[in-house]
Amino acid sequence: MTAVQGSTRARVLDRVKGQPGAVRLLRGSLGAPLHAYLFVGPPGTGRRDASIAFAAALLCPSGGCGQCASCQEALAGRHPDLEVIERAGASILVDQAREVARMALRTPRAGPYQVLVLVDFDLVEKAAPALLKTIEEPPDTTVIILIAETVPRSFVTIASRCVQVQFKPLADETIVEILMAEGVEVAIATSVAEAASGRLDRARLLVRDPGFAERLQRWRTVPSRLDGTGARVAELADELLASAAEPLEVVRGRQAEELAFLQEEAEHRGERAIAGRAAVEDRHRRELRRVRTDELRAGLAVLSSVYRERLVAPEVSAQRLGTTLAAMAAIDEAASRLSRNANETMLLQWLLLHLDT
Ligand SMILES: [Zn+2]
Repeated sequence: MTAVQGSTRARVLDRVKGQPGAVRLLRGSLGAPLHAYLFVGPPGTGRRDASIAFAAALLCPSGGCGQCASCQEALAGRHPDLEVIERAGASILVDQAREVARMALRTPRAGPYQVLVLVDFDLVEKAAPALLKTIEEPPDTTVIILIAETVPRSFVTIASRCVQVQFKPLADETIVEILMAEGVEVAIATSVAEAASGRLDRARLLVRDPGFAERLQRWRTVPSRLDGTGARVAELADELLASAAEPLEVVRGRQAEELAFLQEEAEHRGERAIAGRAAVEDRHRRELRRVRTDELRAGLAVLSSVYRERLVAPEVSAQRLGTTLAAMAAIDEAASRLSRNANETMLLQWLLLHLDT
């Protein structure tokens, strides 16, 4: 077994892009897998793909060749010993947790293991106690993979029973590479990657967002539209803030659809209200805030690149060099204040007053 694994190097894990630390840990763990893993990191960083690839490697008779029938079935999500469990409603429900506990006791049908993947584990809420025992002591033939964005305080006990595998925001180059493999032009892939904060899901969203290029253009032309007056500063700040709110409409629409779907599901089950509605709304608010901050941060990155380009222009005067560097420092400062939840209007006005035209 070890020799075979050595020769194929669990090639199926090569499908996980831009997470060398996580892949190294998983590769090293294949020979003697532990009973539970917790994949932690932001959405769009490959946690789910990695869980499927890791499962494929565990189930493959050749240690994860990526080619055989077992690997193909696992990757296509129809291997009899691989189960991906999505939350049924707003959160993982107690009934669902009990079902997972039952599944964990099953004997593998085809190979040495069965793998259970639990998506959105941070939304487990009240069902956590029903899962604790399963995660602590599943049968030797069951491997459980939990996927979560963060580890809330209430899950520290569960988390401590798992091998934690960290997923970091992807490097821009990785996102460009993946998008280009999907047929996106290099120029679009590059600008989208800069604005995606290391998240492939956001990058894919921006590729399909027709207003994206136009919004970046507004930021790119800021220096040439400044005229040294406070009135223009106020006007531009308002324009940029309104522009950052544009993509929120799409997100709000999708969130409304999700709530409608959950409501329908609840009624179907004979319940009047959505269980865990407050948690969904909370997640929606966080998502809106994140999209907005991501958008502002993307704008600041574009603005900074305008000044950076000036530095490489021939014959830059010493004075021009000074004001350009000061502008870039102010943009950095604004980006860091943005992360500390500063008032956005005041922040942008402050920044624009410090920029060179
Ligand atoms: Zn295989």
